[in-house]
Amino acid sequence: MPRTFTIFGAGLAGALMAVYLARRGHRVELFERRPDPRRGTPERGRSINLALSTRGIAALEEIGLADEVLRSAIPMRGRMIHPRSGPLAFQAYSKGAELAINSVSRSGLNSLLLSAAEREPGVRVHFSRRCLGMDFDTGKAEVLDVESGRTETIDTETVIGADGAFSGVRSSMQKRDRFDYSQDYLEHGYKELTIPAAPGATHRIDRNALHIWPRGTFMMIALPNQDGSFTCTLFWPYKGPHSFDTMPSGDAALEFFRREFPDAVPLIPNLKDDWEHNPAASLVTVRCAPWNVAGCAVLLGDAAHAVVPFYGQGMNASFEDCRSLARHIDASPDDLRSAYERYAHERKPNTDALAQLALDNFIEMRDKAGSPAFRRKKMVEHALEALFPRWYTSLYFMVTFSHTPYAEAKARAERQDRAVRRWTLGLLAALGLLLILAAVILIAHFVTRKFW
Ligand SMILES: Cc1cc2nc3c(=O)[nH]c(=O)nc-3n(C[C@H](O)[C@H](O)[C@H](O)COP(=O)(O)OP(=O)(O)OC[C@H]3O[C@@H](n4cnc5c(N)ncnc54)[C@H](O)[C@@H]3O)c2cc1C
Repeated sequence: MPRTFTIFGAGLAGALMAVYLARRGHRVELFERRPDPRRGTPERGRSINLALSTRGIAALEEIGLADEVLRSAIPMRGRMIHPRSGPLAFQAYSKGAELAINSVSRSGLNSLLLSAAEREPGVRVHFSRRCLGMDFDTGKAEVLDVESGRTETIDTETVIGADGAFSGVRSSMQKRDRFDYSQDYLEHGYKELTIPAAPGATHRIDRNALHIWPRGTFMMIALPNQDGSFTCTLFWPYKGPHSFDTMPSGDAALEFFRREFPDAVPLIPNLKDDWEHNPAASLVTVRCAPWNVAGCAVLLGDAAHAVVPFYGQGMNASFEDCRSLARHIDASPDDLRSAYERYAHERKPNTDALAQLALDNFIEMRDKAGSPAFRRKKMVEHALEALFPRWYTSLYFMVTFSHTPYAEAKARAERQDRAVRRWTLGLLAALGLLLILAAVILIAHFVTRKFW
């Protein structure tokens, strides 16, 4: 039986979910707080490009948009490490650099998904409409018309909260009994800066790499854009002697960049202006449960599980949510409560695992990625993957280039690490024994020659 879904939030997950549902014959009322992004300029400082990988591509393939998205994406085949001084170092994501993650424009992808949703006869999109809250017992939702300032109450049959990390739908769930919720801010925030295109819309640095400037307690990354520019994101503490709070001026920022990122300074001619005008934004991990209120409402994407961006998986995981939710609704369209519960049961342990992996990867990227030990570890990983493909798969591969559920990938990587440590210790012990044996034989040889 076709249902009417009200989706709050027409960002990446909400717009994609609308297409999924409409293709299954359901009606969708899609409400978005912002005006139509296809008719304005994107907000300054909101992440401009994103890394799209296997999980996200699979969802786009299902709705027939993958080819179009990938045509305008830039493949990044590995990390390019920028030390304070000395040569750059490229670390491929796979041994032969055939695997790549894809830099895509957030606003371009969002616009494409919105247009795909609008093409579906069952979908109606309402821009500049903000969900203020809802009553799950009556199904009534309060919606603010952001332009006129008027509030209206709408009736809903069932609601999908795809309204991002600071979800209004989730806020209403929080007022109910026994709703678990935690929100953890990182002490670092981020600020975006631009490396403009070189003449002829070409890129000033290698366009097929994700550039990283690892600096121990902070870092900067840069992803390529189609127009020849790069978007740099500096991840930096909010507080402390060197922090966003203590360094508001562009001149001070320039000094800091000359010291920490000397090769980036000539690439960012508008550094002072970008610094003073682009806002610093916070990074949050949100965990909550349950994700649904019976069959009345369910959370999707960042509304259910915002994660920090260091694995480049927030959007990819949100697209995987859409696939999972659509599958469970297909299996029991007349019993949305059980569809929502089975979806949450499948997804929650995995997004919890992803939240931890993303936090851990911040340490890896900012602290370790530049070290020779890290480079050796990556070489060993590639060698183990090539020699024992059935036994060893790197965590990065499982998370980024496979559909292995995140929790399973995390557990398997931990098992592999333990086994590699055991084998290494065993080999070292065996080598030690061999050396001792050789020494004993040599001494015996020397002693016997001396006495006989
Ligand atoms: C700096 C940064 C870099 C990132 N890089 C990557 C990356 O490389 N790869 C990756 O996979 N992920 C990345 N992410 C994560 C990714 O952006 C999110 O996981 C993804 O956008 C989640 O999609 P969503 O639709 O759930 O939320 P959003 O994209 O945030 O969309 C939510 C929508 O809901 C609307 N909304 C909010 N409140 C209301 C309301 N009350 N009523 C109606 N509408 C409302 C918003 O306007 C918005 O359009 C990054 C995130 C950040 C911050």
